[in-house]
Amino acid sequence: MYLKGIATSSGIAIGKVYKLEQPNIVISEGTGDPQQELQILENALAKTISDIEQIKVRASATLAPEELAIFDAHLMMAQDPEYKDQIVGMIKDGSKADQATKTVSDMMVGMFESMDDAYFKERAADIKDVSFRLLCNILGLNIPDLTAIDEEVVIVAEEMTPSDTAQLNKKYSLGFVTEIGGKTSHAAIMAVALGLPAVVGCTGIMSSCKHGDKIILDAKEGDVIIDPTEEQLKEYEEKRVRFLEEKAALQVLLDKPSITLDGHQVELVANIGSPKDMDNVIANGAEGVGLYRTEFLYMESTEDFPSEEEQFKAYKVVLERAEGKRIVVRTLDIGGDKKLPYFEFDPEMNPFLGYRAIRLCLDRKDIFKTQVRALLRASVYGKLAIMFPMIATIDEFKAAKQFVLDTKEELKAEGVEVSDNIEIGMMVEIPASAVLADEFAKYADFFSIGTNDLIQYSMAADRMSEKVAYLYQPLNPSILRLIKMTIDGAHSQGRWCGMCGEMGGDPMAAPVLLGLGLDEFSMSATKILPTRKIITSLNKAEMEDLANKALKCHTESEVSELVKSVLKG
Ligand code: PEP
Ligand code: MG
Repeated sequence: MYLKGIATSSGIAIGKVYKLEQPNIVISEGTGDPQQELQILENALAKTISDIEQIKVRASATLAPEELAIFDAHLMMAQDPEYKDQIVGMIKDGSKADQATKTVSDMMVGMFESMDDAYFKERAADIKDVSFRLLCNILGLNIPDLTAIDEEVVIVAEEMTPSDTAQLNKKYSLGFVTEIGGKTSHAAIMAVALGLPAVVGCTGIMSSCKHGDKIILDAKEGDVIIDPTEEQLKEYEEKRVRFLEEKAALQVLLDKPSITLDGHQVELVANIGSPKDMDNVIANGAEGVGLYRTEFLYMESTEDFPSEEEQFKAYKVVLERAEGKRIVVRTLDIGGDKKLPYFEFDPEMNPFLGYRAIRLCLDRKDIFKTQVRALLRASVYGKLAIMFPMIATIDEFKAAKQFVLDTKEELKAEGVEVSDNIEIGMMVEIPASAVLADEFAKYADFFSIGTNDLIQYSMAADRMSEKVAYLYQPLNPSILRLIKMTIDGAHSQGRWCGMCGEMGGDPMAAPVLLGLGLDEFSMSATKILPTRKIITSLNKAEMEDLANKALKCHTESEVSELVKSVLKG
């Protein structure tokens, strides 16, 4: 049987189905003895907390700190006095522990899900995860233990929660398929981080297979085959071997420069979110870091803003581990969908268009100062470049740059050593700054194009909304023209231009971006080698012709066709 889902990562998995069937929760009826039920709740809560702590310990072996932060959120939830008080209140009024837990959880989930904010919608998923565990513990139901799997399997599940993915043992998990989820769902992001083949949003998968069935999944195409024929098994086994061979073959490019056939060199660098990611940067042959998203440092912190010392340590580690390669650190990009537990944002109708990133930092110089001091102090440990997010006007850029220069003087006056070789640049992710790029380039040392936001703002299409996801069109000629303006603007003043949005690591975009003259491509570390393979097989002069043709196209699909003809050849 053949099913289609959403492709998330790459690779082929062939193996036996392990069906992750969650216990069926049946809420009891009648009333309970409050004394007894309160004791049941206490015991179940204690077990829930220790379960989550254990999962976090196991997960810390494979996940980065920002990915582990999810378990802190779960622990906070399980220990939240308000959550518990509401359940206790209902028990005192005669409800049984399971009834009270279900009612309170459903109410909170409903409340968070109805909020018009991605951050709170995610919190609803956390509450569901925690309350499911709590209910199982109250009812004495066993939650399947993924860590107990001791043979190679493909996991099939309705949904993979954060605690499920964290429990996956890479040794035995060949891949996974889920009934629900989209390209940006938590499960999909985890699959890429773990390097596992995964297909999500595969409607009908749960009712189409049983434990032990033979299954094939092609994570690049989103294809799932249950009970394959001998012929299909042979075909996909060959595909699997080819995929692994190609992956291994890429290793020869590990320390090779990224040079086109006609001798044009570009830089392939990595996006990181924490110092721990430097392992991946080094293992994948990145030529530096093009985007260090520092907001994770702020989001990991639960009580207060990270101190200057904490930040200094993180930046120093990254700079030292880069051994002289450039590290582009982006200053705090908070707001929009990224919230902090210890900082209250005033409600806004359109947080993506609101008080965020550099707008907030220029307004709250106290917050900005701590980060800039930490960065400048760390600058002597490597090659630091600083860039500001969400710059819309030249005045904003000048103010932010001046703030860095003033802080540098302040540190020097304190006798602190600061590097004299720090490039100060900006993200181009608002159409206004792309249009005025040639003028911005008189002030900024470099640009990095943030296509995730640039496309969202150009198309007026919320990047968090599945319904308008079709408007995420990196190859639309309108976007290509904005990119061209930005690159040409940088070059007109002798500056360099990079790209750190998802488009920077998109194989379909690489030929056009090369032709448009992009100097630096920044992407998830695992994409560096495949992109180097593409770049080293292309001719820059030919790609310039391709880019010129693409700029004259009318639709994204026309550009795609052009690119496909190049990549095939
Ligand atoms: C972007 O907008 O393209 C970008 C790289 O920044 P972020 O995804 O963090 O908004
Ligand atoms: Mg952005």
